[in-house]
Amino acid sequence: MKRFCLHKYVQVLFHISLGILVCQCSLNSNSMQKSLKSDADQIKVIDTHEHQHWPEEFGDVHMGFYHVIYTGYLMHDLVSAGSSWMDIEILDSLCMDAKWELFGKSLNYCRAGSYYGHFIKGFQKLYDFDDLYFTPSNIPALSRQIEKNYSDYRSWFDTAFHKAGFELMFLDQYWRPFNTDLDPRYFALVFHINPLVMQISQRPAAGEEPPSLYDQAKAAGFVIKSLDDYLKFCEHLFEKNIAAKTVCVKNSLAYSRTLYFEDVPYAEANRLFQKDSNHLSQQEAKKLQDFMFHWIIQKSIHNDLPIQIHTGYLAGNGNTLENGKPVRLNNLFLKYHDVKFVLFHGGYPWTGEYAALGKMFPNVYLDLVWLPQISRQEAVQTLEEILDGVPYNKLFWGGDCSLIEESTGSLEFGKDIVSEVLSRRISRGLLTEDVAIDILQRIFRENAIEVFKLEEKLGRKFKVE
Ligand SMILES: [Zn+2]
Repeated sequence: MKRFCLHKYVQVLFHISLGILVCQCSLNSNSMQKSLKSDADQIKVIDTHEHQHWPEEFGDVHMGFYHVIYTGYLMHDLVSAGSSWMDIEILDSLCMDAKWELFGKSLNYCRAGSYYGHFIKGFQKLYDFDDLYFTPSNIPALSRQIEKNYSDYRSWFDTAFHKAGFELMFLDQYWRPFNTDLDPRYFALVFHINPLVMQISQRPAAGEEPPSLYDQAKAAGFVIKSLDDYLKFCEHLFEKNIAAKTVCVKNSLAYSRTLYFEDVPYAEANRLFQKDSNHLSQQEAKKLQDFMFHWIIQKSIHNDLPIQIHTGYLAGNGNTLENGKPVRLNNLFLKYHDVKFVLFHGGYPWTGEYAALGKMFPNVYLDLVWLPQISRQEAVQTLEEILDGVPYNKLFWGGDCSLIEESTGSLEFGKDIVSEVLSRRISRGLLTEDVAIDILQRIFRENAIEVFKLEEKLGRKFKVE
């Protein structure tokens, strides 16, 4: 009996000690996470991917809370939860109660999600909004503040941009891909090449409405009758973008087609280009597009431009997920060693093959952009996996948003996740604090400056603060 009691006593003592130890570890990890987050807050962030719009680009609307939701990723989750899409202008004609009636139920179903989580963080950072959720009682005041800020958006953008901690955003203007005019105080130009690839197989027949690239060519005095004419105009677009200090090329073709780009010889592309585009089979159209992306890679090598590529999950509420499988790009990595490929979004849900490609190829870089907003948990796991396998001079972060509130929330969310992963690794004895701080600085700033050669390309200093 006595021996049993002693045994029991030792057992209880053991469990109490273990509990204290676990508690202590998690406390240490939490305070380390906070400390790393405040280190991250000191970094002037180079954000490698944004789609920042000026509000007037959404039409003649009075931007309020629901308009900001409408332009962001959270709207896709609202639709997924059962809400319907509507014209953004209709929002202006509805009162607050009517808007809550339309979206409130879905909004509440999204409260656990990462789209909701990063979106609310932008308001917590920029608007002194302390609540955990959006509710019918806190939305009206928030919306009035938004309306006030958006009455002079240029000035609001400047304030918010600096308060959030940004120094520079790479701007991919997919909605106006031929525009090279932007404000260099905030943005570096990204050359969005989707129209060059897709429209090679959309040559207009006589009397047909020309797609945008042919319109642009006509306005610039180019006549496109042959493949050589088409390439000559694309060469002109490269020159125009380089003159505007473009820092990289961007391919988001997974939204329209597979990421497998076959190596098609010039003679075959030339023959296919001569055919009436309306009579090209799907396979023939794909071959022309494939040829074009290889041509673009060669031009990017010649002009020393890294190529950013969308991989994995596709925004919106309906597309072909398989198109974005990162491993479909493997043949390009084997063929082209002299260009930097930057893969986006963790290749979610194929995060393992994404990390493996970054590990295997010296010229394949990984941008965590948007992954934290898609799934916080997946971002944590993927970053753990990446840090195990991929040198950290190959990693970047981007926001991928349309308005400054959401980009700010994305940055807060991204910093939280990276700090969480690094603090856990410190508590497990896998990392020291100084290396963790180096990783933060590399991901949120230094790698972008180095890999995209920003000082040389933009003619401005980044190193000295
Ligand atoms: Zn994007």
